[in-house]
Amino acid sequence: MADDCIFCKIVAGDIQAARVYEDDNTIAFVDLNPQAPTHLLVIPKEHIADLPALSENPQVSAAFLAGIRAVAEQEDLHAFRTVLNTGAEVGQSVFHVHAHVLAGRPMGWPPG
Ligand code: 5GP
Ligand code: ZN
Repeated sequence: MADDCIFCKIVAGDIQAARVYEDDNTIAFVDLNPQAPTHLLVIPKEHIADLPALSENPQVSAAFLAGIRAVAEQEDLHAFRTVLNTGAEVGQSVFHVHAHVLAGRPMGWPPG
């Protein structure tokens, strides 16, 4: 746990979030500022800053992907977009790796 990390505080239950899923390694909760009818954040319970750091831990990486799949299945998402922002320049604002899972409206590609 990183003391100054808002998502670690959500994992610990010190900050409230609308949790929709939890397993041994992963939790998912509703984004505070949703960009689609379904906008979930999937995070590893362990504090890992970003995708490059996550990739150095194959076990947590695999559990993270399995968590995304489990959340999508639980929420009955037949089509969904998964976004991992890496770096402040592209919009990463919380440095505890998280997958945005977005669904429920048409989404263009490229995202712009
Ligand atoms: P990023 O910009 O780092 O890719 O995404 C961070 C996301 O976390 C944003 O979409 C933001 O709305 C969400 N967020 C930030 N703080 C909180 C919080 O305290 N609770 C919840 N549920 N979402 C948060
Ligand atoms: Zn953290």
